[in-house]
Amino acid sequence: MIQEVDKAQAELERKEVLRKHKDYIFPCVTNYYAEPLVADHAKAQYVWDIEGKRYLDFFGGILTISVGHCNPKVTTKIKEQIDRLQHTSTVYPNEQIVALAEKLAQITPGRLQKSFFCNSGTEADETAVMLARMSTGHFDVVALRHGYSGHSLLAKSLTAHAPYRRAGIVSVGISHAVSPYCYRCPLHLTYPSCGVACAYDVEETIRTTTSGSIAAFLAETIQGVGGFIVPPREYFKIVFTIVKKYGGLFVADEVQTGFGRTGKKWFGIEHWQVEPDMITGAKGMANGTPVGLCIATPEVADGFKGMTISTFGGNPVTSVAARATIEVIEEDKLLDNCDRVGAYLRKKLEALQEKYPLIGDVRGMGLMQGLELVKDRKTKEPAPEATVQLMERCRAHGLLIGKGGLFGNVIRISPPLNINESDVDEAVQAMDKSFAEVK
Ligand code: PMP
Repeated sequence: MIQEVDKAQAELERKEVLRKHKDYIFPCVTNYYAEPLVADHAKAQYVWDIEGKRYLDFFGGILTISVGHCNPKVTTKIKEQIDRLQHTSTVYPNEQIVALAEKLAQITPGRLQKSFFCNSGTEADETAVMLARMSTGHFDVVALRHGYSGHSLLAKSLTAHAPYRRAGIVSVGISHAVSPYCYRCPLHLTYPSCGVACAYDVEETIRTTTSGSIAAFLAETIQGVGGFIVPPREYFKIVFTIVKKYGGLFVADEVQTGFGRTGKKWFGIEHWQVEPDMITGAKGMANGTPVGLCIATPEVADGFKGMTISTFGGNPVTSVAARATIEVIEEDKLLDNCDRVGAYLRKKLEALQEKYPLIGDVRGMGLMQGLELVKDRKTKEPAPEATVQLMERCRAHGLLIGKGGLFGNVIRISPPLNINESDVDEAVQAMDKSFAEVK
C-alpha cells in the first residue's frame, strides 16, 4: 500500500515537473522522448528517474559524464573546495586555477601551454576565434559543414546545420568547407580512391570565399552533433598544411572528443598526428561541472589584445572538479579502458549491423560510437522515425542513448569511460531487443 501511495506521489511530481518545464522554460530547450524522462538521481553508470526506474546511461549527459555520475573522488574534492573557497573571480589568482592550467599544459599535445577558462564549449570556441583573429591579424575563419560549435551568435555562425541557424545569423567572415563524411560523401566519391578530395576543399574554400588569408580553421576531430562523423586518416594532415599556407591557426574543437573519449589518447586530434595551435574543451573535462577551456601555444595566447574577463572562468570549484576528473582518468587508466571497452562495444555493434538492415553505418572511436540508421542500405535514405522508436524502446528496456546527425538518424553512444565489458553486454542486449521491436 505504501508502495502504491509513493508511486502515485511520484507520478504527480513527474507531471508537475513537466508542467513547470512547459510553463517556465524556453520551448527551444527540448527533451528526449514523447514522455520526457524526469531525472532524480544518478550513481556511476546509472540514472534513476523520479519514479524509481533505473537506466544504464550510455549517453552520459551528452558525452559529459567521463568518470561516472557523482564520482566519489570528484565530488569529495568539490565539497571540500566549496567549504574552503568558492569564488573570487579572476581578479585574484588561486592555487586551484594554476594547478589545473599546469596539468592541462602537461596532457595537451605539442606546445599548448596557456589556458583561458570560461563556462562552456560555446565560449571556448568563441574565445578561439577571437584570439585567432587578434593573433594573426586575419579575419576569415573556415569551419566545416555538419559541424557544431554552440549556442551564441558566433558559435551558431560556425555551426553548419540549418535547424541550429534560425537565429538571425550573420556569418560574415565564416566559410564552410565540405564535411569529411565518407558514408555520405558530399563529393560523391569513395575512400580511398577519392584521394581525400574533401581535405582539398578547404583550399578551394579559402581561395573562393575568403580574402585569401585566414585567421583559423576550426573543426571537431569527430563531428559530434553531426552524428559522430570520423574523418579519414589523412584528412587533418592535409588540411593542416593548407591552413598554414594561408596564414591560419589550426583549432581543434575537442568539446566532445577531448579528455580520453576517443581512447588511448587524451585528445582526438592526437590520432591524426597534427599539433594544433589551439584546443577548445568543455563537457567531459569536469564530469558535469560547467567549464570551458581554450588552450593555446604561448605566442598565440600572448597575441590577445586589450582586456577580457570571464567572471566564473577558472572558478576554484570547477578548477578542482576538472583536475580531479583528469586525475581519475589517469589513476584508473581510463585512456586504456576506453580503448579496450570501446573496441569490445564496436564489435558488438558491428554484429548488430549484420543482424539489422536498418543499421547503415557503424562508426566512431573509443567510447564514442554511432549507428546511422537508414530505410534502405542502397539508397541510404535516412530513417529518423525508426531512430526515435529505437530510443523509446531502449528507454523501455532501461538504456539511455543519444541521437544526432543532420537528419536525426544517428544513434550516439557515449557511456562513462570507466564502464566495463559487462555494461556493454547489458546495453547491447537492450539494443538488440529494441531493434527487434522497431517497425
Ligand atoms: N563544440 C562542440 C563540438 C559541441 O558538441 C558543443 C556542444 N554540443 C559545443 C561546442 C558547445 O558547447 P556548450 O553546449 O557547452 O556551449
